[in-house]
Amino acid sequence: MIDVVVIGAGINGLTAATMLARAGLAVEVVEARPVLGGMAAREPIADGYLAPVGIYETTGVRPWMLNAVGIALSPELPRLHGSGGVVVDLAQRRVEGVDPTDAAAFEDLVELVTRIGPLFWRLMDHPPIDPVASGWRSLWAAARVGLSARRLGFEALRELLRAAPMPLADFLDERFESNALKGLLAAEALKYRFAGAKSPTTALDLLAALVYQSAGIVPACRLLERLVAAAKHHELRVRCGVRVSSVNFDGSRATGVTLSDGMRIEARSVLSTVHPRQTLCELISPRYLPAALRDDLRAWRSQGSTARLDLVLAQPLRDNAGRPLSRFALSDNLSELERAYDQGKHRQSTLEQLVLTGQQFDLDGGFADRGHDAHVVCLTVQHVPSDRVVDENALRAAVRQRLSAIDANLAQHLRAERFTSVAALAQGFALDGGQFEHGELSLDQQYFMRPQIRCASYRAPLRGLYLGGNGSHPGRGFNGAAGALAANAMLADR
Ligand SMILES: Cc1cc2nc3c(=O)[nH]c(=O)nc-3n(C[C@H](O)[C@H](O)[C@H](O)COP(=O)(O)OP(=O)(O)OC[C@H]3O[C@@H](n4cnc5c(N)ncnc54)[C@H](O)[C@@H]3O)c2cc1C
Repeated sequence: MIDVVVIGAGINGLTAATMLARAGLAVEVVEARPVLGGMAAREPIADGYLAPVGIYETTGVRPWMLNAVGIALSPELPRLHGSGGVVVDLAQRRVEGVDPTDAAAFEDLVELVTRIGPLFWRLMDHPPIDPVASGWRSLWAAARVGLSARRLGFEALRELLRAAPMPLADFLDERFESNALKGLLAAEALKYRFAGAKSPTTALDLLAALVYQSAGIVPACRLLERLVAAAKHHELRVRCGVRVSSVNFDGSRATGVTLSDGMRIEARSVLSTVHPRQTLCELISPRYLPAALRDDLRAWRSQGSTARLDLVLAQPLRDNAGRPLSRFALSDNLSELERAYDQGKHRQSTLEQLVLTGQQFDLDGGFADRGHDAHVVCLTVQHVPSDRVVDENALRAAVRQRLSAIDANLAQHLRAERFTSVAALAQGFALDGGQFEHGELSLDQQYFMRPQIRCASYRAPLRGLYLGGNGSHPGRGFNGAAGALAANAMLADR
């Protein structure tokens, strides 16, 4: 019998498994796909060119998480390119291409983000406090959150509390005149969210996105490479190409898993990074789960609305000043974003409003084999109505049309493209509903409500079963934090 089976070899699974192996436990990872990496794994776009089918960049990489798995990485602060020559430069803490009033207002916003950072990380880097637990540990955890909030100072705390429930459009309209700047910031804030600029609580998404980006960005494949090397170094046992079909219990605690080929792995504990509804409602027998929890999980919102398009270009996309674009968002104003959300919400088939965010990589990004010379552009296409409503070719053409605003000769520079629909992403990665983050990151599905109040401490209500995927806190931030915090919970219980 081994100590732990980890289900899923994405960033969270590899992080958790490596931490547990470093702590001296005998760990085996089971991955349904033939390769390691989950949504960060690279697959060919065309001969010689690779890109992740899913995630291509990672924000919020935290030093404590890198230390926990023994790897080093140097995240970079991003430049965000928007429409009309607007560029947000987080390294310089300034914005280009707007008038001086907006430039000063942006510096104030960056100052607010800097002030709230410590409170934000206090909440994100630690398990959520348990609102009903007694005992000195939970009181101490709550006190530390309270102290971090006090340290913000009155003005920043008031602004945070005021912004948190606000629609993003109101928050941005108060501060800025430039539609292009508002569109750029809003597109970043609403990335992967199934919400519009006028939805409640979306101003909080902007503050969170800016705090995450202020911690720097690295290409997802770089983080994955380092994690795989660390896993090899610790001689982690990994079994790819076979699914876990059930988690087994002996009536009192988890005893291991059964695989789709019928093989059983006996283990003292199981850590799942699979979508929480699948873990709790499909991988375990209904007789083990409280009925109330099953009902709550059925109501868990996890609707995907983001598709992916990867392009191989002979010439890089450039901004108005002729500089190659890195990270960019094509969204001219807030109304456009809201209309795109309405279109997705009402499942309409118009393709006039597409929200495109993307990143361009050169060969150093690890996206091409040696000897190839081209640029890979990874795009997310948001608020795509369901695949049954929109024809894939029409969607591809609409995206290319939208990109022609940056490069009028795109068709001549295009060497290859790969489209991955919402349904293909959902099916390929067992994403229940298709949401990448294993559940919408709305206020009601965060912190001690992620994925449910009864299992927000990474411990399922069944002994020996732990939840370490993005459906657990902190959910956002493709950095392995949920896996790391679940591994810590397991180690604390030993
Ligand atoms: C385009 C795109 C952009 C993204 N950007 C961000 C971002 O900016 N921030 C963010 O937080 N997240 C982002 N995500 C989501 C991101 O991919 C996840 O945060 C990240 O992949 C989570 O890693 P994971 O290990 O939890 O899950 P995954 O990478 O999905 O890995 C889970 C693994 O479990 C495997 N699996 C599922 N069921 C079983 C089973 N029964 N048995 C065995 N194996 C199984 C799957 O095959 C998969 O490989 C993005 C996703 C996409 C597609």
